[in-house]
Amino acid sequence: MIIKLKKSLSEQVIKNLKSSHKAFHIKNGNDDLLITSSSLKELPDSIDIYVDDFWVFDNDMQLSSKLFSNKTRVVKIGKATIGGDTKNTVVIGGPCSVESEKQISESASLLSSLGLSVLRGGCYKPRTSPYSFQGLGLEGLQLLSKMRDKFGLSVITEVRDATHVMDVIEHTDVVQVGAKAMYDQGILRACSKTNKPILIKRGFGTTLQEFVQAAEFVLSGGNENVILCERGIRTFETGTRFTLDLCGVAWLQEKCNLPVILDPSHAMGYSYAIPNLSKACVAMGVDGLLIEVHPDPRNAKSDASQQLTHAEFENLLTVLGPVSKSVGYNLI
Ligand code: PEP
Ligand code: MN
Repeated sequence: MIIKLKKSLSEQVIKNLKSSHKAFHIKNGNDDLLITSSSLKELPDSIDIYVDDFWVFDNDMQLSSKLFSNKTRVVKIGKATIGGDTKNTVVIGGPCSVESEKQISESASLLSSLGLSVLRGGCYKPRTSPYSFQGLGLEGLQLLSKMRDKFGLSVITEVRDATHVMDVIEHTDVVQVGAKAMYDQGILRACSKTNKPILIKRGFGTTLQEFVQAAEFVLSGGNENVILCERGIRTFETGTRFTLDLCGVAWLQEKCNLPVILDPSHAMGYSYAIPNLSKACVAMGVDGLLIEVHPDPRNAKSDASQQLTHAEFENLLTVLGPVSKSVGYNLI
């Protein structure tokens, strides 16, 4: 249950209500909200006098539910605003991993020349083998900060585990919680204590309910800037790396008030399919697209087969423009 408290209750009263109902307390604009488990279905008589309004839910998708707030939340990524009435689809581009200053500045320069404003690049890579490239770590974060200063871009990078979550929060504009890390509550709780936007990627065996509950960890801790990212789930199919769950995206758009970004690069695993898949994504009127692009994909240190060349990326934007327009959205 979400309980909106009456104005001008004393801090002590709020504190007592919070602890007697094992609730989270957050500010929503000027409002004080208490959030309890969704198993609470009726407002206890004892607290009636303190309550302005309340919402009852079938499950723990509460702050993220359209039943609580029926508009998609507005989230700002530097100059790019998504959600609300914006009808913006932000295109986030960049390499899988930050590999060197030369490589990431080529990517940053490409984005800036195309009028895009959000650069991605992993510095802590959650690889499936300990012998593969693990990322440049702090050096990579510093390179991203340098790109922000040099090109005026916003940057997004991934946190792999709780040991470096504070470093990532400090250096990046958007914190990416990856598919393998989205169950890590140390990461989620740390992300709830900043105001920076948090992009949570769906785990490949994660139900939609579990996905939005990961977002609830961040929202209930007080950070209202959460974005969801569908990046493919695991099915019986082996011809593609994963399966992009567009049905899941439609479900999220209907039921959930968080902006949704789609990542066809990781879903497909092969660059040849990215243009068509991107068209399908944009046609759904989504809040963003995350595309891996590398100055020299064949020699990339991670995810070589799925990254577009610069020329392919440039061409992709040209092709996507009319699709986006046809559904009333702007690519930014
Ligand atoms: C990535 O964005 O490079 C990445 C590792 O993504 P995911 O967590 O979706 O696998
Ligand atoms: Mn990748």
